[in-house]
Amino acid sequence: MMRLHGRTVYGYIYAVVVTVLFAIINFSYHKLCRHQHLRLRMSVPDKGDMAEPYECVNIDGDLAVCDKDECAGAWKPPRAHHCSICGTCRLDFDHHCPWLGNCVTMRNMQRFLLFIGLTPLTVALAVAPIIKITLQHAVEAVAISRSDPWARSVWWDWWGSWIFIGGPIGRWVFGGVLGVRALQRHNSACPTLCSPGCLVERPHLRLMSTFALGSLFALFALGLAIITARNVLRGRTMFELLRGCNVRYICIPSSGEQSRSGVYAIDQPDASWLYDLGAARNWGAVIRASSRANGARFTWPKINPNVLNRLVMRDAK
Ligand SMILES: [Zn+2]
Ligand SMILES: [Zn+2]
Repeated sequence: MMRLHGRTVYGYIYAVVVTVLFAIINFSYHKLCRHQHLRLRMSVPDKGDMAEPYECVNIDGDLAVCDKDECAGAWKPPRAHHCSICGTCRLDFDHHCPWLGNCVTMRNMQRFLLFIGLTPLTVALAVAPIIKITLQHAVEAVAISRSDPWARSVWWDWWGSWIFIGGPIGRWVFGGVLGVRALQRHNSACPTLCSPGCLVERPHLRLMSTFALGSLFALFALGLAIITARNVLRGRTMFELLRGCNVRYICIPSSGEQSRSGVYAIDQPDASWLYDLGAARNWGAVIRASSRANGARFTWPKINPNVLNRLVMRDAK
C-alpha cells in the first residue's frame, strides 16, 4: 500500500472525500433554508383566454383563488398550495420542512434531493471505520451492566425500566449507558481528554450517542429520499401523496379541439395521475422548475393526455 509521510494515501483520500461531502451537505442546507420562493400576487387569468386544458374549481370552468392570510383573494394556480406556516401560497408545493424552516417545492426539489440523498451516504462513510468497534462496545456495555450489582438493583430488576425512558427499547439503551459508566469506572486509566484514538478504542458515551443519533438521522433521510424520488418520478408531490389530489374538474377550452371541449368532473384514481407524464418527463419538469427557481415565472403544468382521453371517452358513452 502506498504511504505518504507514514500514513496511507487511502486515509488522506478518505478524509478529503468525507470533508467535501460534509461541505456540500452544509452548503445545500444553508441554501435550502434561505431559498426565496416566488411570492404569488397574481390576478385570476381570464378563462376565455385559455388554450390548453386546465384544472378548475366548478362546472363553469372558474379558476381557484385563495382568501387565506396575505393571499387575500389572489389567484391560486394549479398545483399551488397555501402553506399555513409561511402564510402564503407556494407554487408546486411539496411540503413545509420544519428542519429547514422553509417550504420545499419543485423549484428547490433538485437541491433538496441532493441534500437528503447525500446525507445517508456521508454518514455511512463517516462512521464506517468505527462501526465494528462501537457495536462491540455497546454489546460489552450491556453485558457489564447486567452483571453489575448496582446497575441491576437500580435498573434491570426495577419494573419501571420496562416503561420509563423509551419502554422496552429504552430499557436496553439506558442499561447500556449504565454499563459504559461501569466500564469507565473499571478502566479509570483513561483520563477525560485522552490521547487521539482513545475516544474510539475505549467506550465513550459521547462517541456512542453521536454514532446512534447520526445513524438514526441518516436512516430517516434515506427513507425520505426514496419516497421523494419516487414521487418526483411519478409526477406527484408529497402533499398530493399524503392528502390525495383534490382536483375536481378539468376544463378543455373550445379554442382547442371542438369535439373534446367542455368541463369534466374527475374522480380518484385519475386525479392521482393528473400530472404524471412519464418518469423522464416528470424528472425533466423538476430540472426546469429548479432552473427558474429565482426567475419568478409561472408555467401551466401539462396534464396527462391519457387522463384527458379517459374523461372524454367516459362522457361520450
Ligand atoms: Zn394562499
Ligand atoms: Zn412553508
